[in-house]
Amino acid sequence: MRLIILGAPGVGKGTQGKLLGASYQIPNISTGDILRTAIEQETELGTKAKEFMEKGELVPDDIMIGLIQHRLQFDDCENGFILDGFPRTVKQAVALDGYLQSVNKNINYVIALEVAEKKVIERLTSRRVCRNCGKDYNLITNPPPSNNRCSLCQGKIIQRSDDTKETVQNRLKVYQGKTKSLKEYFQKQGKLIILNGEGSIEQIQTRIRSFLDSKDR
Ligand code: AMP
Repeated sequence: MRLIILGAPGVGKGTQGKLLGASYQIPNISTGDILRTAIEQETELGTKAKEFMEKGELVPDDIMIGLIQHRLQFDDCENGFILDGFPRTVKQAVALDGYLQSVNKNINYVIALEVAEKKVIERLTSRRVCRNCGKDYNLITNPPPSNNRCSLCQGKIIQRSDDTKETVQNRLKVYQGKTKSLKEYFQKQGKLIILNGEGSIEQIQTRIRSFLDSKDR
């Protein structure tokens, strides 16, 4: 199973991807998480990515293409993977297809989650994450424990620096401008599945699973 989860920031790509990855026992690869770790560890990649991420801009394609090709060669991708946050431009999608073809693989489905913009802004600005393990919290729907420590690992719970209102608005603008044409790209390949991303985490997971199970039979 090789899947892409597509959608604007805040539609729940990460949450749904992690759940799917756990049930299929394949990695959920979040390019945003990889970049955030690189920033935290002050690597060369982190230094390059930081200035773009803080403004809500996309990190240049060449960096991202190199990063994902490297990650897809890890052993844990042998039986499949879920991509969360990649590709974000048509150039990245073409490069991904080219790389997969070169190793006789392909993407099975691209699941696009759709959520009204107002809701996305609300979800992102109220999102909090564990700095240590990345577990998601939300001030409205899933509040962090009162000591602000992660219930899984006791790590500190923080707001991502790009989840502030101004940056969120720019990220959505960037998404509308660049990433939307990706849908057309995958539509032409007959791989695009558009699903409603509104509802509870469980409802959305069931929606995705029902689709995938129907294809499995
Ligand atoms: P995310 O966690 O997916 O919302 O990504 C956070 C930020 O990381 C984005 O706003 C971009 O600055 C950067 N980023 C993540 N994935 C990509 C990508 N595939 N292409 C370019 N920039 C990316």
